[in-house]
Amino acid sequence: MLKHLLSITLLACAVTATLVGQLRLPVDSFVAAHQQQILRELVELLSIPNVAADRTSMRRNAELLRAMFDKRGFNVEILETDGNPLVFAELRAPAARRTILFYAHYDGQPVDPKSWNQSSPFSPVLRDRRTEDGGQEVANFLTLGEFPPESRLYARSASDDKSPIVALLAAVDALKAANLPPTSNLKVILDGEEEARSPGLAATMGRYRDKYRADLMLILDGPLHASGKPTLAFGARGNLVFQLTTFGPKFALHSGHYGNWAPNPALDLAQLLASMKDANGRVTIDGFYDDVPRLSDQERQVLAAVPDRSDELMRFFGIHRTEQVGTNLQEALQYPSLNIRGLHAGDIGDAARTIIPDRAIAEIDVRLVKETDAERMLQRVLAHVRARGFHVLMDADPDDETRARHDRIVRVSRVNWTNAYRTEMTLPESRAIVGALERAWGEVPIRARTMGGTVPIDFFIQALNIPAVSLPVVNFDNNQHSHNENLRIQNLWDAVKSIAAVMQM
Ligand SMILES: [Zn+2]
Repeated sequence: MLKHLLSITLLACAVTATLVGQLRLPVDSFVAAHQQQILRELVELLSIPNVAADRTSMRRNAELLRAMFDKRGFNVEILETDGNPLVFAELRAPAARRTILFYAHYDGQPVDPKSWNQSSPFSPVLRDRRTEDGGQEVANFLTLGEFPPESRLYARSASDDKSPIVALLAAVDALKAANLPPTSNLKVILDGEEEARSPGLAATMGRYRDKYRADLMLILDGPLHASGKPTLAFGARGNLVFQLTTFGPKFALHSGHYGNWAPNPALDLAQLLASMKDANGRVTIDGFYDDVPRLSDQERQVLAAVPDRSDELMRFFGIHRTEQVGTNLQEALQYPSLNIRGLHAGDIGDAARTIIPDRAIAEIDVRLVKETDAERMLQRVLAHVRARGFHVLMDADPDDETRARHDRIVRVSRVNWTNAYRTEMTLPESRAIVGALERAWGEVPIRARTMGGTVPIDFFIQALNIPAVSLPVVNFDNNQHSHNENLRIQNLWDAVKSIAAVMQM
């Protein structure tokens, strides 16, 4: 009996191995044989500066991208916007099962060249491992045929978000070389203003809706889970940000002459903020969590399967307690959060003066989940502020008349938001992606119900009304948005494999 079971298991393994091998081997061997070529293409793209405000360089990026897609037989066009252009490319597949719309962005965050360990963020450098681990620069690296897996390519957008674009093209090449045509029509939209909240993409939505039509959107952006395992994220939290300013006297007063008499705006602000959360980190604003349904047992299981080693994280961050919203990190991300991201009143240290300041300012971000609409959440916050006795002014300083009438005044300003999105993991398209990665890697990918961070294209996803899933491919320690941004080279090869797998699903 045991022997019989064993042989069935072996047989099953053999079948799985064959299926896996069909895709894995040709893509792996293509990548192994073309490492230099793939890296050269990435280095060429990274060598063109891509700060969104530099319109001339952005145009050069778009032109190079156009040529790169054209070379692979994509139908490619540059879509003009009021800002940087979008690059749109399309490749039809014979007998396609569906149309996939890939999203990536070619702009990067602004740079502070002095902080980088190289002559320019746009002169890519290869180090044999992370700088922090003693990585040494590799001279003439573009002549190498093979690259150490732990080596890192340093440049702005090495990870965020040019390498996924190059990996996508290499995946197309690999499938072509193996005579395995994609099983889906491929559409690609490359955003030139993601780091500036994608105004161009929003503006073209009406005009190009038909072009963008697809059955599924795959977002190639963001890092893998910290474990480095294949990852899918089925949503992203939104973000509502605003500034609160409390007002004291019209100008700063001497704290000796008027202390105990003139009210202090910093204290008003501190008390207001303190009233918004309890000691366990739960938000006490009325209705803050009301729209969020209870997690089902199945959803809890999915969350528990994400290997977040909290103990290690807490040690790494040097914190001894966590807030008590949800029983673990993944659960905490399923709820809206309220965070004070900056505070300002008077001066401190050598600049401190004995004054009662005239105003105090807090910057707040409220991370949103799919069920918590930004405008509704803002109204809840404002209702709370009013209930604490504050007169609320939108975007305006109080005039004398207003000052004469109200005990406490708060100005709400700099309001903006991105809503959250989330795709059900049980949808057929969601299952298909999970299955594709499982076949390529021989293990179930990490499935995040939502990322904690925000993707500023919620309006795009909602307007298209199709399932959207993030397929992150880069290393989590890539210094995204900061200086010394880098890409771990093995992540590039792995990205080709993952993207080829979804093109074949
Ligand atoms: Zn990005």
